[in-house]
This record gives sequence, C-alpha cells and structure tokens, in this order.
Amino acid sequence: MCAVSDFDEIKLKREKMPKLIVVLPCYNEEEVLSTTIEELTPLMQSLIDSNKISQDSFLCFVDDGSRDKTWSIIEQFSLSNTMVRGLKLANNVGHQNALLAGLLSNKDRADIYISIDCDLQDDISVIPKMVELYVAGNEIVYGVRSSREVDTLFKRKSAEIFYDVQEAVGVDIIKNHADYRLISNRVLDALSKYQERNLYLRAMFPLIGFKSDVVYYQRKERLAGETKYPLKKMLSFAWDGITSFSTVPLKLITVLGATIFVVSMLISFWIIFIKIFTDQAVPGWASTTLPIYFIGGIQLLSVGIIGEYIGKIYAETKQRPRFIIDKTV
Ligand code: UDP
Ligand code: MG
Repeated sequence: MCAVSDFDEIKLKREKMPKLIVVLPCYNEEEVLSTTIEELTPLMQSLIDSNKISQDSFLCFVDDGSRDKTWSIIEQFSLSNTMVRGLKLANNVGHQNALLAGLLSNKDRADIYISIDCDLQDDISVIPKMVELYVAGNEIVYGVRSSREVDTLFKRKSAEIFYDVQEAVGVDIIKNHADYRLISNRVLDALSKYQERNLYLRAMFPLIGFKSDVVYYQRKERLAGETKYPLKKMLSFAWDGITSFSTVPLKLITVLGATIFVVSMLISFWIIFIKIFTDQAVPGWASTTLPIYFIGGIQLLSVGIIGEYIGKIYAETKQRPRFIIDKTV
C-alpha cells in the first residue's frame, strides 16, 4: 500500500461535507432527554444547512440499561425526528462501555463522531468549531474545560491531585478533558483494535496518536436530574485511569523493597554495635521484631499491588462482551 495514495484519499474525503454521528450515553436520563434533543436538533440542522456536515448526519442515543422512561423517550422522538436514533443496551454497563458501544456499532457509518454526555453539561456551541478543526486536518479534537468554577472545591482539588499522580506514573492525558471529543473514522478504526476491558477512554486517544487539537469551553451545571457518577464510581474510575495505563506501581515495589532492605541492614549494624560496645542489648528483641515489621510490610504491600494487576489479567482473559445490544431503532 502506498502512503501517498492513502493521503490523497483522506484529503479527498475531507473536501466534501463530513457525515457526523453524535454519540450520547444515557442512564436514567428521562428528566433531561427531551431538552437535549430539542437543543441538539436545531444545531445539527444549522450545520447541515450551512453545508458543514452531510444531510444524513444524526444523533445516536445509547440507553445504558436505564430503568426509567429513557428508552421510550428515544423511541418516541425517533418516530418524528429523523435525526434521532437509538441503541438500547441489555444491561447497565457504565458510561465508558456505553460510549464505546455507541461508537463501535456505528463504525464506518460516518466520517466523524462526537461523544458528549446527554445532560449537556458540555457546551454544544463548540461543535461547529470541532468540525472546522477536523476539516482543517485534525483526526481528534479534544473538548477541554477552560475553568472548573462550577465544581465543588473537593472535586477541583481532587482532580488536580489526580492529574499530578497520573503525570508522575507516566499516563499521557489531556488535563481537564473528559469524554467530550470529536474523532474521525480512522481513529475509531484504531480504537476498535484495542481489546482491553478496563476502559479509560480519555487516555486511550493520546495513546492512539494522530493529529489533534483542542477546543475550550465552560462546563455548565447539569440540566436536571442527579449525577450518575457517585464518589464510589468516580474513585474506581480514577483507579482505572492509573492501573490500566501504568506499571509504575509495580516498579515502586522494587524501589520500596530495596529501600527497606538497605534500612534493615543499617539497623542490623546498629544492633551489632549495641551488642558489642554496650550492655543495653535486650536478648531476642531484634531477631523477633525486625523481621515481623519489615517482611510483613513488604509482603502485604506487594501482594496487594500485584493482586490489582492479577485482577486485571483475570478480567482480560475472561473475554466477556463489553456490551450486548438489545434493540436499535
Ligand atoms: N451514564 C451512563 N451510564 C452510567 C452512568 C452514567 O451512560 O452507568 C451517562 C449519563 O447518562 C451521562 C454521562 O454518562 O450522560 C455522564 O454522567 P453524569 O452526568 O451523571 O456524570 P457527571 O457529569 O456528574 O460526572
Ligand atoms: Mg454530567
């Protein structure tokens, strides 16, 4: 395959209006869904009217196993609004898997895809800019929050610490970017080759590479309803954000082990010194206490961290389907 002809093909494709699919994962979102559709439809229409995207572009709502009226609202709208399509997952698989389901099941059906939460906290007015940046030659356009003013102090601070930790262990991320982004079909094709199950999508795109750019926006409050990301889910997601991309914690065990070994050697010399040059040595103390604390500590920590990774290997080897599609409209 000749790289030049590939490039020509990409260039040719970019010159026409790209077909856009907006993917929106929804979990128990009956309170916001109608407003979301009513706000996104005119925006899509104006992009079509101004020849920025093709006429067959559409919105794909992924119902992540909701227990409220989410699916029936999607079905209802799809009857009267040709731009509204839906995908119902058989069970609640979580935001990341739902988003992946929406993207992968539409692979090769469009030129570009935009993922956005259906509570419209992310500003849809930057969508035209994202499309422009794609036409200008970018394969990925990251939506980045310009400030975190609407967040609580706790969320702001914990996010800062989390980014620092990720940086320290070598995870390549875009600060203040969540899952609001545009990707091209090429990127989606690359993404489909990643078979991992412990998903942390926002760090996978920098891993994939390709030319990218960012757009800045202000994140708003949720339109209505409550967050579907309680602290527990957020913490486990954050943990994935580190352990799915870095083996630095494993290396830390080695460093810790070496450090403790050196320290225990120094203590041993000290004990020998006490024994030989003073009369304060307590018989049996050193030989009992030292090994218990040092070896016990190292073992517990090592087993704990190695266990984390074994847990992941276990999940990977089970090869469970990440999502099962129930219905589509
Ligand atoms: N979501 C989902 N499955 C879940 C939890 C959340 O599809 O199990 C969707 C939810 O409907 C929303 C998006 O993921 O569109 C982000 O969730 P939310 O707005 O509750 O998170 P927050 O913005 O508070 O972090
Ligand atoms: Mg939200």
